[in-house]
Amino acid sequence: MASAKYIFVTGGVTSSLGKGIISASLAKLLQARGYSVTIQKLDPYINIDPGTLNPYEHGECFVTNDGAETDLDLGHYERFLNVPTSQANNVTTGRIYQTVINKEREGAYLGKTVQIIPHITDEIKRRIQILGETGAFDIVITEIGGTVGDIESLPYVETVRQLKWELGSAALSIHLTLIPYLAAAGELKTKPTQHSVKALLELGVQPDILVTRTEKPISGEIRRKIALFCNVNVNAVIESIDAETIYDVPLLMYKEQLDKVVLNKLKLPLQHEPELTQWKEFLGKLKNPVHEVRIGLVGKYIELKDAYKSIAESFIHAGVANEAKVKVEWIHSEKIEPGNVAAKLGGLHGVLVAPGFGDRGIEGKITAIQYVRENNIPFLGVCLGMQCAVIEFARNVIGWKDAHSTEMNPATKHAVIDFMEGQKNITKKGGTMRLGEYNCNIQKGTKAASVYKKEKIGERHRHRYEFNNKFLKDFEESGMIASGINPESNLVEIVELKNHPWFVGVQFHPEYKSTVENPHPLFVRFVRAALDRSKLALD
Ligand code: GLN
Repeated sequence: MASAKYIFVTGGVTSSLGKGIISASLAKLLQARGYSVTIQKLDPYINIDPGTLNPYEHGECFVTNDGAETDLDLGHYERFLNVPTSQANNVTTGRIYQTVINKEREGAYLGKTVQIIPHITDEIKRRIQILGETGAFDIVITEIGGTVGDIESLPYVETVRQLKWELGSAALSIHLTLIPYLAAAGELKTKPTQHSVKALLELGVQPDILVTRTEKPISGEIRRKIALFCNVNVNAVIESIDAETIYDVPLLMYKEQLDKVVLNKLKLPLQHEPELTQWKEFLGKLKNPVHEVRIGLVGKYIELKDAYKSIAESFIHAGVANEAKVKVEWIHSEKIEPGNVAAKLGGLHGVLVAPGFGDRGIEGKITAIQYVRENNIPFLGVCLGMQCAVIEFARNVIGWKDAHSTEMNPATKHAVIDFMEGQKNITKKGGTMRLGEYNCNIQKGTKAASVYKKEKIGERHRHRYEFNNKFLKDFEESGMIASGINPESNLVEIVELKNHPWFVGVQFHPEYKSTVENPHPLFVRFVRAALDRSKLALD
């Protein structure tokens, strides 16, 4: 196979322009033309990975099959492309420096002064090319986090300059900017784009394509003006207008011919028109739902919806699979109490209790679970949500009033959720959880079996604590069964209730595996159960 081509995506003017969605949309189009594509995110912060970041800082931490804790953009890449990413797809400045400093300590630089150029930039280059060199991809899209002009982004932009020089027509750069609309003047303004391109030019990078975010369509005149000032072809000025849903963006980019411009510049054949039948079907159903269900998402980070990004997207995928619009009601776990739980949850068709860490909001989650259990409301507990379901059952069904997780109460006599043996002596926080994909055997005749229709599955994990097998017999005798078990460690991965229409808790994170093409079966079946309940309410 010929060597891979590289596309660099930078952003200017402001952050949050949606580089991740543009990268994923371009990748989708190239994939739909028959190319194998992967996307990588380079994050300019000093953390080794986002695993230790509070979700308020950075939204959800996405986890790959190989156990990397990564930026949430990797979730978009997987949801759009339906191809798993890996550790190599997300690199931070912290990781780059750590590698270089470790090498320096080993003496690998033979007495040389270790510098940003060439040592840091060489390491960035190596990380970018790792994916291309696997031979698995025709095209590697590398998204540079941050905004051009930031001090932290400088080594990355410098690396783009070097690689563009070395790779010639095998590399190109796309710069994403904003064209603000000034209501008072009634005009779209191109100056911020011109300035942003100038900032990039000062760093030695001439963008080949400009993708311009805008609220209103940009005219031919504006395109010509930007082309003239920024040294790009008019057809390489791409409009990216605000979309109703992120899943519209690949089609919008197709209309703007972004994929064609890219392939021409990379000197790659267009092959065939993008094969997007399934994608369009998905969009059609997304926009024309037949049913509607209301599902509560109980969590403690609900002020920041990005904290539960993959869960929210999984509901969109599962809604489409059921021809239903899933209206997610975000409910703060700290605000749920026995006195108001009926008012908050009573009208919902399903409740998901979210993942999380620490004590805050835990009793609200447990109260919510008691309510849905006693009132036959469909329930899905994810990670901490599953652990809370176990605690609730122990307290209110088995009768162990002090039951808890040792994460919240290390002294409890009924530590129904406890540290795993291997975790007990770990004091460091970063990268020390049970991370990535683990096997799980599904027990026959259970709800889990009817959901997965397979005996062996693999799901992604991110946690330290586990169901305490010492108590499993007591739970099973009282009606909460373990329907998924890890074959290697015997750890409980799925619990469910026998006497409930749909009550399932999973120690793993199914939301990391849901994609447009493959909506996750647990979410699909949970939404179906909610749909059944909504119909019941109409009878
Ligand atoms: N805090 C819990 C644990 O570490 C759950 C983690 C999660 O919900 N991702 O086990």
